[in-house]
Amino acid sequence: MGYKIAIDGPAGAGKSTIAKVIAKKLGFIYVDTGAMYRAMALFIMNEGIDPKDAEAINNKCKEADITIRYENGEQIVYLNGENVNSLIRTQQVSNMASLTSPNIEVRKKLVELQQKLAADADVVMDGRDIGTCVLPDAEVKVFLTAGSRVRAERRYKELMAKGEDCDIDIIEKEIIERDNQDMTREISPLKAAEDATFVDSSYMTIEEVAETIIGMVSYKKEG
Ligand code: C5P
Repeated sequence: MGYKIAIDGPAGAGKSTIAKVIAKKLGFIYVDTGAMYRAMALFIMNEGIDPKDAEAINNKCKEADITIRYENGEQIVYLNGENVNSLIRTQQVSNMASLTSPNIEVRKKLVELQQKLAADADVVMDGRDIGTCVLPDAEVKVFLTAGSRVRAERRYKELMAKGEDCDIDIIEKEIIERDNQDMTREISPLKAAEDATFVDSSYMTIEEVAETIIGMVSYKKEG
């Protein structure tokens, strides 16, 4: 059994940035579960399925072959044999992932894959239901939050740096909408585990958040 760090929280709280820093510092594997839900959303989108058609999604998702490989320390998501890393970071896929992720068969399939990845490795895993559902026995559980305006500002800067034109008010509105969808769904809603530690990253640097979480880890990798 490996050592497990679970980081949950709303969209744009900095989970993946922080998880990557921690994984690198501790020599753990970083598992980005959002990327798996995004790949599934891309599949459903490409199949032309209505995101409100739960029955069609629950049937069709079984045909999606989602696998994860680590190349040069980076997580690569394959959808039916194709590397989709560059296709899953759009706003459209973000919104679609939030609509398709509540479906039971989607969750069953992806949670199983996530638990397999964590079975024998030391992992930092981020998502919405890691501490509550995927890795309830994780040694460290963190619920990472930040105010919605701060989260929108971070996303805005990222998109502007990529040369994408965007509107901060629309980004904030979409973030709030996505959080509401994630928090109010029936299965595995976004929720802090009872034994999770809350960390508000609004006014902290990446380094400060990473060090706070590493401070909770009572384990040193050998060698
Ligand atoms: O974390 P990220 O923004 O990439 O996640 C995209 C969407 O995937 C979330 O809005 C959420 O609906 C879904 N998700 C989930 N459970 C997870 C990770 C992501 O339902 N563990």
